Amino acid sequence: MGNLMNCPQCGKLFIKTLRDNCDVCYREEEKQYDDVYKFIRRSENRNATLLDVSEGTKVPESKIIQFIHQGRIRVKGFPNFSYPCDGCQKPINDGRLCEECKNRIKSDLSIEDFIKKKAEEALPSYHTDDN
Ligand SMILES: [Zn+2]
Ligand SMILES: [Zn+2]
Repeated sequence: MGNLMNCPQCGKLFIKTLRDNCDVCYREEEKQYDDVYKFIRRSENRNATLLDVSEGTKVPESKIIQFIHQGRIRVKGFPNFSYPCDGCQKPINDGRLCEECKNRIKSDLSIEDFIKKKAEEALPSYHTDDN
């Protein structure tokens, strides 16, 4: 049994099953994944940057990073390919976090909590002194 919900990408109502987006967006995403996968597999693209891949495939950078975060795309062997660490925005090219951020995560803190905490810290502070 699925629940009726709005697709986060296009806003269309759909029945939520295992996926978080509707069929149209799902198929679009699979096509994008395919394009990125094929692009980085070609040996002449070994030195591609994130921007090169995005321009070569017409897939937005954020989407490519999403595929990497999901573990569907690996760019470890690409010397020029980097994207921001989810914790500190430092360029990395494997996983979601740089070594430093990984080390800073305590065992009681999940990656999600850590990223949320970092995002809150990064917000401008509106705190003012009362006196
Ligand atoms: Zn959709
Ligand atoms: Zn980091």
